[in-house]
Amino acid sequence: MLKLDNISAYYGNINALSNINLEVEKGEIVSLLGANGAGKSSTLKVISGLLEPRDGDVYFKDDKITGMEPEKIVDHGIIHIPEGRQIFPTLTVAENLKIGAYRIRKSTNWQNKLDDIFEYFPVLSDRKEQQGGTLSGGEQQMLAIARGLMAEPELLMLDEPSLGLAPLIVKDIFKIIKKINSEGVTILLVEQNANMALKIANRAYILETGEIVHSGNAEDLASDEKVKEAYLGSK
Ligand code: ATP
Repeated sequence: MLKLDNISAYYGNINALSNINLEVEKGEIVSLLGANGAGKSSTLKVISGLLEPRDGDVYFKDDKITGMEPEKIVDHGIIHIPEGRQIFPTLTVAENLKIGAYRIRKSTNWQNKLDDIFEYFPVLSDRKEQQGGTLSGGEQQMLAIARGLMAEPELLMLDEPSLGLAPLIVKDIFKIIKKINSEGVTILLVEQNANMALKIANRAYILETGEIVHSGNAEDLASDEKVKEAYLGSK
């Protein structure tokens, strides 16, 4: 479904990504792991058109999407939820969600879509009229994910959805990600919480200073001694 073919990307002279080859099949959850600055966010930015690669190509469902405008990439069905839950703090929950639906298919009634979304996120339904900025951190993350779902993505890319959240809330967020996936949305997940990210994923890639250093089946990676030692905080 998604293929990155030998991607290299720079910020000015800074080499953020080198020769990244990565694939995501339809229906999978794929996790992208690595330390701070390894290039995880940059990889998502290349896919969503926010960072133009210097070399290589990105393909989505057989279309070459390299260098396309981010809006066009959204039209192809790729939604990127960036790190830091960029919701609109002074708009209500319902207004934030409505904005997410701006590219919804004409055949879909956005009010029906909103009702579907509230089934996933009952906590947001209770807070429809509350300003986004007054939600708790976990609720804001749910709103960010919910807003992404309003655009009916085929591929949902989440950048560190667990960042700064309490362990119980993180569990809820991961449950929601799993449910979204089970209903047909393919997921590319960036996480520093490697333990959780490997548990939920089918496959994973591990980045180190802009290069992929390990990749494979998530279960195999979770039991690999080298991976355990370097990324999972155990020997
Ligand atoms: P984190 O977990 O800290 O978000 P990351 O794995 O997502 O890290 P990236 O944000 O992709 O890493 O950063 C990869 C490299 O590119 C880092 O060396 C970073 O300093 C650099 N970088 C990222 N954004 C920019 C930018 N806008 N300008 C210059 N350098 C950048």
